[in-house]
Amino acid sequence: MDEGLEASQQHRRLVLKALLWMTVVSGTLFAGLNIGRELWLLAVGEVFFVLLALAVLRLVDRTRHLMWVTVAFLVPFFSLMVLAMLLPRTSFTVFAWIQTIPIICYLLLGLRGGFWMSFVFISLAVAAFGYRYQVQESLLSLMMMANVGLSSMAILLLSHIYERSRVRNEARLIELASTDNLTGLANRMKLAEVLERERSHALRDNKPLSLIVLDVDYFKRINDQYGHDVGDRALCHLSTTLSGRLRDTDLLCRLGGEEFAILLPGAALDQAAELANDLRRHLSDNPLDVGAASQVMTFSAGVAALGEDGQSLDELMQTADRRMYEAKAAGRDQVVAAGQQYPLSTPRHL
Ligand code: GH3
Ligand code: MG
Ligand code: MG
Repeated sequence: MDEGLEASQQHRRLVLKALLWMTVVSGTLFAGLNIGRELWLLAVGEVFFVLLALAVLRLVDRTRHLMWVTVAFLVPFFSLMVLAMLLPRTSFTVFAWIQTIPIICYLLLGLRGGFWMSFVFISLAVAAFGYRYQVQESLLSLMMMANVGLSSMAILLLSHIYERSRVRNEARLIELASTDNLTGLANRMKLAEVLERERSHALRDNKPLSLIVLDVDYFKRINDQYGHDVGDRALCHLSTTLSGRLRDTDLLCRLGGEEFAILLPGAALDQAAELANDLRRHLSDNPLDVGAASQVMTFSAGVAALGEDGQSLDELMQTADRRMYEAKAAGRDQVVAAGQQYPLSTPRHL
């Protein structure tokens, strides 16, 4: 599951639990009071809700269908609220609960679900108010309805605006947290997240998955010779040069410094090694512009594949990293996979 979605789910699980506990406490209290007032229908409904809330509390942490569990609880919950508003012997203060409808709906169901559920139940509650409190003077009737209806709609609107900016900010923060700010590539955190997802797809569909780890050769010399800004530009140059050669489903990410990784869903070890070698040649064929001159860039890479080289990100990274260092030790500007070496052209040193 996507990081943002997971965070929202956790947040909603907590809100639902709080609502369920409030239902248990207030349902027990009101059931007692309504039994005292001989409002049997409402009291039975409240006891039923206390039991339902206790049952839902048991599955909130385990369910994979939180949204449906929430809807299945909220529809009868708000229906009972409207029923309580319609019954002639309940106090008019029961209408104070209308104001909680949009807040509960937006917190638990998000923008779209929140809007529709609030809209439907606020409309029903305002209709119930109109039914209960009809007065002779039609203008006064209208004004009373407008007070209840508009104040509830105002809360709906404010909740909508709040939820929309919360969702946007959350998405922006997640994007910032998973992006390398120099190259705009994914970072290590994003790699771990995507690898986890792709790994389960690969295992489910019996498809291969490979990882390339690469490190720019003699990068320090570029910094020393042309300065740190050109070094930064070199990292961006590598990022755009390699990205142009990858499929949409491949993920190029910057691990840190001048070290990068490429996740290749659907690629077996030999295909990934061929691709790494092709990228190596492509990069050295497209040197970096540095004023009048140009600077050839090369990298050394190690390749690892899911299954034969490990199951977890750590295992794949360790193997690919070890092979990358073997490529460095063997003279740089080359690719190492299990039992295969791809220097395939005369190494060019900086
Ligand atoms: P090797 O072939 O063994 O990998 O040699 P190297 O020079 O590439 O490796 P080394 O680890 O000695 O140097 C890496 C340099 O990368 C040192 C560090 O200052 C530089 N560096 C790390 N991050 C950045 C960055 O974001 N921008 C720039 N310009 N330089 C960076
Ligand atoms: Mg290096
Ligand atoms: Mg390095």
